[in-house]
Amino acid sequence: MLIQLKEDISAQQKSGIVEKITGAGLHIKEVKTQLNSYLVCIGDEELDIRAIGNMEGVGDIHHVTDNYKLVSRKWKVKDTRIDLGDDVVISREEFAIMAGPCAIEGEDQIRNTVDHLVKNNIRIMRGGVFKPRSSPYSFRGVGIEGLKIFSKICREQGIKVITEVMHVGQIDDMLDHVDIFQVGARNSQNFNLLDALGSVDKPVLLKRGMSGTIDELLYSAEYVFSGGNEKIILCERGIRTHEKAYRNTLDLNAVPILKDKTHLPVIVDPSHGLGLRRYIEPMGLAAVMAGADGVITEVHEHPEKALSDGQQTLNFIEAEQYYKHLRETWKLKISLK
Ligand code: PEP
Ligand code: MN
Repeated sequence: MLIQLKEDISAQQKSGIVEKITGAGLHIKEVKTQLNSYLVCIGDEELDIRAIGNMEGVGDIHHVTDNYKLVSRKWKVKDTRIDLGDDVVISREEFAIMAGPCAIEGEDQIRNTVDHLVKNNIRIMRGGVFKPRSSPYSFRGVGIEGLKIFSKICREQGIKVITEVMHVGQIDDMLDHVDIFQVGARNSQNFNLLDALGSVDKPVLLKRGMSGTIDELLYSAEYVFSGGNEKIILCERGIRTHEKAYRNTLDLNAVPILKDKTHLPVIVDPSHGLGLRRYIEPMGLAAVMAGADGVITEVHEHPEKALSDGQQTLNFIEAEQYYKHLRETWKLKISLK
């Protein structure tokens, strides 16, 4: 059971509600986010929600049978909208395109990419400064100083920054320089990191783990939400299967299923989902038709010189065509409703 409390609830009203619930043998986790206050009620005891629904201070009450509660569509039918400010919104009404290099490499690369994004009316730039690499000898990113330059250039041009945070200790230093914290596939179940991002007032993009199930992704999102941050975006980025013809199996089945299970926005990363440049466009377009709210794609002026993931990165000319086709497909998709 999930109870959303009214903003002006008094302490007395709240303790009356709490007593009723605990008296029925349920446990309560109180959750206060940037936007709302909730009581998440856990336990097997049956409690007639009508007994609570009429109590003063209760805004909304729902019986949620899923084990994840706050991220479930069972209590919130309306889609969550993430507002990044300056008219940049991730929602059901618009299709969000996030693009940029796998890794930030230097100032010229940032400036050229920003120019390319501005020209194509793209408002969110991706780029890792802390790179999780399979080999410790690969390029591991330019770090916090690089992030400061990245965000300064983007802010001058009205572009929002999404970049990966790899551990709890990086959050404070990154906070002023990011608009969306990305949690990578390898950290999808790093519960300490998820807890810590729960106390941050910045959106979090949660990638699906390489072997993560759809429900595990939702539980990860529940960590962030129950920690106090309801600005969450989910990302399908491919899972590891026995197939060797590509890097990962982009599981587009997950998109409509997630959209049914949760009110959170869902985006797709065809770059990591395939690992092969030539299939990014068809699968990006397929993601639109599957119901995704956006895509995140690797682009670089010279992919062949990129310090990481060049093989799955579009050059600027390919990317322009891709954005155009994504937007045309989105128009088709919404016209079908
Ligand atoms: C990335 O987006 O740069 C990245 C490392 O992605 P993933 O965590 O999905 O592998
Ligand atoms: Mn990459």
